[in-house]
Amino acid sequence: MSMLTISQASCADDYDPNSMPVAKARAFIHQFLSPVSGVARVPVRDALGRVLAEDIASPVDVPSHRNSAMDGWAMRGVDLRADAEATLTEIGVAFAGKPFGGRVAAGQCVRIMTGGVVPEGADTVVMQERAKANGKSITFDPGQKAGQNVREAGEDLKAGAVALRRGRIVRPAELGLIASLGVGEVSVYRPLRVAFFSTGDELKSIGTTLGEGEIYDSNRYTIHGMLTRLGCDVLDMGVVRDDPAAIERAFAEAAASADVVITSGGVSVGEADFVKSILGKLGEVVFWKIAMKPGRPLAYGKIGGAHFFGLPGNPVSVMVTFYQFVRDALLVLQGAHPIEPVPTFPVTCTQRLKKAPGRTEFQRGILARGADGALTVRPTGEQGSGILKSMSDANCFIILGDATGNVEPGTVVEVQLMEGVV
Ligand code: AMP
Ligand code: MG
Repeated sequence: MSMLTISQASCADDYDPNSMPVAKARAFIHQFLSPVSGVARVPVRDALGRVLAEDIASPVDVPSHRNSAMDGWAMRGVDLRADAEATLTEIGVAFAGKPFGGRVAAGQCVRIMTGGVVPEGADTVVMQERAKANGKSITFDPGQKAGQNVREAGEDLKAGAVALRRGRIVRPAELGLIASLGVGEVSVYRPLRVAFFSTGDELKSIGTTLGEGEIYDSNRYTIHGMLTRLGCDVLDMGVVRDDPAAIERAFAEAAASADVVITSGGVSVGEADFVKSILGKLGEVVFWKIAMKPGRPLAYGKIGGAHFFGLPGNPVSVMVTFYQFVRDALLVLQGAHPIEPVPTFPVTCTQRLKKAPGRTEFQRGILARGADGALTVRPTGEQGSGILKSMSDANCFIILGDATGNVEPGTVVEVQLMEGVV
């Protein structure tokens, strides 16, 4: 079914392009997303930030040997006493990577370091802080438990078990986990190619002088940053004038060369009409007014094989709509699965917030610890959608749901950290 048919079919229920709830717009977009095809085998380090295109099974037991979790001595658990000290004779040493090799018999123990192989016969380790050495005669405190401080072979992972599933984003922990299996190369999805341009006659690129009423194009920089953090190959197509022929050319070129096309500006009321008719010719695009602030106008669709996101022009709206709609979509297209929602958590707000019910607001907040050590949040100040400094000053969004009205000081609000979203 086509995008327009779906949006029309949905009209039967409560689909209203002029007041689209955030969650509904997100769900609509997700119907059209599936991972790109194309995978590459890369050395482990190059997989950082990419998405696994295969399950990674462990070829070995991890750890490969029964080993000590502590620096201390290894012995038979039955030789220790719950209610009294026990004295055993040290017969050798087992360092990490240098096993003892012999067998531990009754009344004996082996000096052992963390990671050292627990010698045959031994099943228990006592940490050195619980022992006194007098030459080779070692006395252990009472209260030890048989089997303690020993890491069993295969305790982390049994040979053959799946350590990581396809769809997992590779972070530093995954790099280490893959390396711990002795695996040197993995299959990852190819990076997404994302083309983007800004629209607006008032926009100038850095390096030129501003005429009256002109501003520097900042959206291409925030978009570049967000896409790069998400591991995309970016194609910056510059500023395109508010001229139908130029915009049509730019859309056609972008869609032909990328998996995803992102624009900023040109989708607000008054500007949308000619963009709408161009996109009507080139593809299938739906235009919404999202019930959110900032970021009311938004367009989504397909231009040929490319996914298209038409973001608003205001610099804060660009970032907020990117975080709310584009981020997850790009992760799905990159093969990531499951996509964890960016967590929110409740915090007390110390100042009054102005808010009208009927839409979701993403106010910019500063999360900090008060004198009593508790986390609190306050707004950054002016919340205008053109004030990019509010994004820079903020470390979180204060998310105020549709039903919420003004917020009085001392009210608990939902907060979402910005760092880590992209
Ligand atoms: P528009 O959505 O095109 O009507 O733009 C809304 C507001 O955002 C206007 O004040 C524009 O000047 C501003 N704007 C649009 N694009 C950019 C951009 N690339 N960089 C900075 N400001 C922009
Ligand atoms: Mg414009």
